[in-house]
Amino acid sequence: MSKLSDRINNLAESQTLAMAKKSRELQAQGKDIISLSIGEPDFDTPQFIKDAAKRAIDNNVTRYTPVSGILELRKAVAQKFKRDNNLNYTPEQIIVSTGAKQSLANIILSLVNPGEEVIVPIPYWVSYIETIKLAEGITVTIPTSVESNFKISPEQLKKAITPKTKLIVFSTPCNPSGSVYSKSELKALADVIIKYPDLYIISDEIYEHINFAGGHESMAQFDFINDRVITVNGVSKGFAMTGWRIGFIGAPLWIAQACEKMQGQFTSGACSISQMAALEAVKADQSVTFGMRDSFKKRRDLSLALLKEIPGIKTTVPDGAFYIFPDISYYFGKSYNNYHIKNSSDLSLFLLEEGNTALVSGDAFGDDNCIRFSFAIAEEKLIEAIRRMKEALAKLR
Ligand code: PMP
Ligand code: GLU
Repeated sequence: MSKLSDRINNLAESQTLAMAKKSRELQAQGKDIISLSIGEPDFDTPQFIKDAAKRAIDNNVTRYTPVSGILELRKAVAQKFKRDNNLNYTPEQIIVSTGAKQSLANIILSLVNPGEEVIVPIPYWVSYIETIKLAEGITVTIPTSVESNFKISPEQLKKAITPKTKLIVFSTPCNPSGSVYSKSELKALADVIIKYPDLYIISDEIYEHINFAGGHESMAQFDFINDRVITVNGVSKGFAMTGWRIGFIGAPLWIAQACEKMQGQFTSGACSISQMAALEAVKADQSVTFGMRDSFKKRRDLSLALLKEIPGIKTTVPDGAFYIFPDISYYFGKSYNNYHIKNSSDLSLFLLEEGNTALVSGDAFGDDNCIRFSFAIAEEKLIEAIRRMKEALAKLR
């Protein structure tokens, strides 16, 4: 009998974090690994945000905060939702958590009963599926591909809904595809959802500020559906604050209250100092994020141009986030020495060992034909990483 619970035994390790860990270990052994694995900005947190954290320490903002978050921050988040997304949330409808990852876990664990179905378009962010598993829900995936720009159609959504469907979880901009849903595409999905009164939707908008296509569109903007949408966002990506661990939601009051109750038993309020730092980020004009976004766009264009020179790699042009999700299935069935490439995991291991470049295999995101390439690193490293990939892939016959 296992000493550990079935729950933990059945849980898969986060593949994004596992690959990042592996890269760090190899780097610590002196290997020259370029890591395109973890999705995090390489920029420093802006100075005015760091200053706010220092002030918070000096002003002794060091005690437990309300479980749902410091009121001033919740007010600022409500204003942010109004200012940037034209969403109407009261501070009571905002819950601040230890990263958007906890926000997602709070919602999924609060809404999903064992046996209920959760629709998740492929490719999905790794942690959705495992959190649904923890809630003993059943994941129902919807396939997409490079050809559909990794987006689902209203017809596909309709077909996936059954009497057991409770929730839909998706991200826009999407991790890992970088696809961004337009207002009319979101409206078409909302028109389907409205017909099912017991269906809820998590709109994960953590990459809102990293958008190369124009304005960000929120699912909750449609009044006819906003009492069934939970908007997830945070400061990790847009403000280069991954380590501060602050995420938040805007939700119908009863869902916000459930998340508060859940969080009250797990972690209590998020770090007080990080909340004071996040307050400055949320209050700031979006323009503080523009410089980083523009750098990401340059890196995206550079990466796409260079990846095009590698035979057999098919990509979309991602409109947001900092990932490219190339279809690499051309290499399946090819070999080099002891490497026989059958799937995306084989290819990512090959690229790590033969190319000293760490990427995350697509199967972690539900699409085994692809591999995730993060371009959130300096241009010269991107150039070198793609050169290594090209050289390694050329060995496969
Ligand atoms: N959602 C998506 C789509 C993400 O890529 C991430 C990145 N980790 C998160 C949520 C969680 O972000 P956080 O760092 O705020 O926990
Ligand atoms: N969201 C990032 C990624 O997908 C961070 C790692 C994680 O939390 O999974 O790489």
